[in-house]
Amino acid sequence: MVRAFPARDGTDVQNQKASKGAGRRTPTGRLVRRIWSDYMSRYKRDLVIGLISIAVVAGTTGAIAHMMEPIINEIFINQNREKLFGIPLMIIGIFTVMAVATFGQHYVMRAVGIRVANDVQGDLYDRMIRSDLRFFYNHTVGQSISRFLTDAQMMQEALATTFVALVRDSMTAIALIIVMFTKDWQMALVAMIVLPAAGLPIARIGRLSRKSSQQVQQASGFLASFLSDTLTSIRQVKAYNREDYEARRARDALAIRLATLLKNLRVRALISPIIEVIAGVAVAAAVLYGGIRVIEGALTPGAFFAFLTALLLAASPIRQLGKVNAAFQSGLAAAERLFDALDSLPQIEDRSGGRELKVPRGHVRFDDVRFVYPDGTEALHGITLECRPGETIALVGQSGGGKSTILNLVGRFYDTSGGQVTIDNQAVDAVSVESLRRAIGFVSQETALFDDTVRANIAYSKPDATDDEIEAAAEGANAHGFISALPDGYQTVVGSAGFRLSGGQRQRIAIARAMLRDAPILLLDEATSALDADSERKVQAALNRLQKGRSTITVAHRLSTVINADRIYVIEDGRVAESGSHGELMARGGRYAELYSGDAEITAAAAVGAE
Ligand code: ADP
Repeated sequence: MVRAFPARDGTDVQNQKASKGAGRRTPTGRLVRRIWSDYMSRYKRDLVIGLISIAVVAGTTGAIAHMMEPIINEIFINQNREKLFGIPLMIIGIFTVMAVATFGQHYVMRAVGIRVANDVQGDLYDRMIRSDLRFFYNHTVGQSISRFLTDAQMMQEALATTFVALVRDSMTAIALIIVMFTKDWQMALVAMIVLPAAGLPIARIGRLSRKSSQQVQQASGFLASFLSDTLTSIRQVKAYNREDYEARRARDALAIRLATLLKNLRVRALISPIIEVIAGVAVAAAVLYGGIRVIEGALTPGAFFAFLTALLLAASPIRQLGKVNAAFQSGLAAAERLFDALDSLPQIEDRSGGRELKVPRGHVRFDDVRFVYPDGTEALHGITLECRPGETIALVGQSGGGKSTILNLVGRFYDTSGGQVTIDNQAVDAVSVESLRRAIGFVSQETALFDDTVRANIAYSKPDATDDEIEAAAEGANAHGFISALPDGYQTVVGSAGFRLSGGQRQRIAIARAMLRDAPILLLDEATSALDADSERKVQAALNRLQKGRSTITVAHRLSTVINADRIYVIEDGRVAESGSHGELMARGGRYAELYSGDAEITAAAAVGAE
């Protein structure tokens, strides 16, 4: 049994995952049909060429066995000089044809496998990038990447190598068996009796292999998420001296994967010896029975050797068939997971029938909105609030109250579980998602920069923006100055995590991105990372400019935002605890006043809220 890998909180991750995914198994036939109809059938022409090549390879292999009869009878026994040259020429001819066909079979069929896996990857990425956030909360990035790369690779191998071999080896075996029957059908029957004996272990090992490769995949997915976790948080690891701890965990995760890999290997390695023994019995039986027939004069030595050659040649494809079936089953396991991913990724449904969101004013309203996360967490219990055209409203409150959830519902990153979110009286789920997102600018805490130029990072919100527009946006975001001072100006590539820019600079680029989008509604998830006073001032000025003329909903941590907001909503336990302007709420002396009592504490509350 595979050892469990302990998670940080000590629970048993391996078993959690195992209990979720294991046990379900799509029938092989259905998987194969789906691979065929969704992906492989579009390569029919290549497949026909490949199959013809395979048939030729199988046929020529049979021909080689058959050639043993004239070789022995004509050359060695009859000493026929005429045939002495004819037969070698024929042999060269057969091998040449076989060589050409082998190339066709290898190249064409493997290319189909590679293409199919590539198509599946394309579809999977399409699906992942379009699926709602729900998916990304349920799967770690590492798991998704592992599925994308490893599963697709396994499926490709199953198709490219094993599927081909499956067809080729069975055709070759059949061709050789035909040769055996033409030489001496009774002797062939004797040898064939052992075939069913080989079939049973092949099927059983195939099943075992599929199961154990599922375990390999689970362990790989886990390892991948561990890797992406620790490597993206490398600074945390170092800051808390946790290198040894993580290195130990890596060894544990590797050990688990190693155990599953070795188990898979053992299962597959079993197949050869089993078939070897069976083949030995078949050859021995044939020699005994054939020897008697030749001694009795019922069979020529040539026919006997042709038979024996066919039998020996057949042992190899039959052995291959066993191995290949195991690999094929592993590939099916991968295909099964890929299809599961393709099928299960939830999608925000577009029920708009093409209706576009029109935002003449930018009036956002929440009417008794409830929301339950897929895992059952009740995040919002009837939120009613509004952001009138051009207003800035601030959401404040302890962490976990539901502020980020509210922002997510405006952009319809999720569908509500009850109540309605409307923009200018149009329900967000009644208009096209595309038009909805077009109306919204979003500046989040994670001021994510892509590994690309500053220009491309700003233009991310409007790919066809002109240089002037981009510069104007950067000016507005107080970013033009520092961007111009970068070594390549707007063409400077900012590292994958935006490492070369300071926190404040990254935020200003994110603000420029939203500025360029010029959307009537703005969602702000204020950064809480402490900026120095100068950066803070510049960021704040940029934000003020960005907010002008837009309806802004902001998860507020900055004092200035809170005080200047048109209305403040204190969100607690998924409910609006209080609302009003700063002055009103202070006068009321409720939760807000409590939160606000003194700069120090609001800063602390902000820090708590940002966790
Ligand atoms: P805030 O932004 O005020 O800190 P959130 O909106 O992030 O609060 O969270 C509200 C509640 O929803 C919390 O109980 C939180 O644990 C839960 N929650 C947030 N995101 C998820 C998620 N993806 N899956 C399940 N529960 C979640």
